[in-house]
Amino acid sequence: MTTIHTTIHRRTCHICEANCGVLVELDGRRVVSIRGNPDHVLSRGHICPKATAIADLQDDPDRLRRPVKRVGDAWQEIDWATAYSEIAARVVALQNDGARAAFYRGNPGAHDYALSTQSGYLQRAVGARGTFSASTLDQIPHHYVQYRMYGHVSLAAVPDIDRSQLIVIVGGNPMASNGSLWTVPDFRNRVKEMQARGGRLVVVDPRRTETAKVADQWVPVRPATDTALLLGILQCVLAEGDTLRPGLAELVDASWARVKPLVDGFDLDRLSAHCGVPVDTIRALAAELSGEKTAIYGRMGVSVCEFGALNQWLIQLINLATGNLDREGGTMFPEPLLDLVGQVGRGGVKTVETARGTLPSVMGEIPTIAFADELTREDDQRIRTLFVIAGNPVLSAPHGKRTDAALAGLDLMVAMDMHVTETSRHA
Ligand code: SF4
Repeated sequence: MTTIHTTIHRRTCHICEANCGVLVELDGRRVVSIRGNPDHVLSRGHICPKATAIADLQDDPDRLRRPVKRVGDAWQEIDWATAYSEIAARVVALQNDGARAAFYRGNPGAHDYALSTQSGYLQRAVGARGTFSASTLDQIPHHYVQYRMYGHVSLAAVPDIDRSQLIVIVGGNPMASNGSLWTVPDFRNRVKEMQARGGRLVVVDPRRTETAKVADQWVPVRPATDTALLLGILQCVLAEGDTLRPGLAELVDASWARVKPLVDGFDLDRLSAHCGVPVDTIRALAAELSGEKTAIYGRMGVSVCEFGALNQWLIQLINLATGNLDREGGTMFPEPLLDLVGQVGRGGVKTVETARGTLPSVMGEIPTIAFADELTREDDQRIRTLFVIAGNPVLSAPHGKRTDAALAGLDLMVAMDMHVTETSRHA
């Protein structure tokens, strides 16, 4: 009988921002099993099927194990030292030629501390003029409002689910995402625990999502009319008084006094008719949110729309008005092990000139909607050197076909990826 000696390695799954703790059992370099780590403080043993599939990635014959360099139509494996020196030489030559360099950063970069903290050095060394990422496609309203209200693009207040008695999720589906931006692995069991202590989950969404199916109440809202619903809720909350609880009152400036007159200018019946949510439901949500240990939270559904920033602002105001901002059981500002908020600057909100005209720029990024335009513009600002870090914009960004065609014309493209993808095939 053969005895197998395996070792257990405690790791973090970086496939999404839930960052679940995993126990990887290895026999040499062969993955025997991947399980959730029950001692992980955040994920508590939870993993989703993607984590168990990491073993397939590990053994995937198509996974790149060494750098590859394009030679004609073929890929040639090269060693790391050669890769570094050849890339550096070509970057410098293009810098000397005045070529514009840019970066495209894919989602995985945000799930990995090493990449998110170190890649900025590379960008500066390369002299990149322009960063594009998925952030500008789905979450910039969060960052914009956080910057305006809390003074830092990354100061995100998220529901304190383990102590909350009511969470209203607007346009979010954490059953599928495990709380993108919120970072709430094991969401299903956390909801069950909240329900077991008498709490309620309410989901506002035009679609009966996976999260709506486990909620205590589903509020179908007409698509892209969340602003009307949020205005109605805020109006009803403030109707009971706009005096902020101690601790919050000292933190707001004189502009708070302008909020109630502003929202009172809207007719509740018309707001209700616009969003398709009955007045009684709006009033009931407002009354329930006005209790203690409640939170309202909005994600992509209320960000990726015409009034995304307004929606995020209204959500913060509701939590502020109910007294549940920065309060246990309400929405709170997480204190992560590695405090990126404290380590990086506040970020900024500016405008940037692009081939599509003047666009807003948050966190120094150029909106990815302009990526294909910046690759194909015909002046000396055309991107000629491109680093793509764990991203596949040909598939996931707007104007994929134009991007696909434009990437073939770059002077230099360097892709950091485990596979040759629709995008990295142009490297
Ligand atoms: S939810 Fe799934 S993909 Fe995301 S970190 Fe956890 S195991 Fe990985």
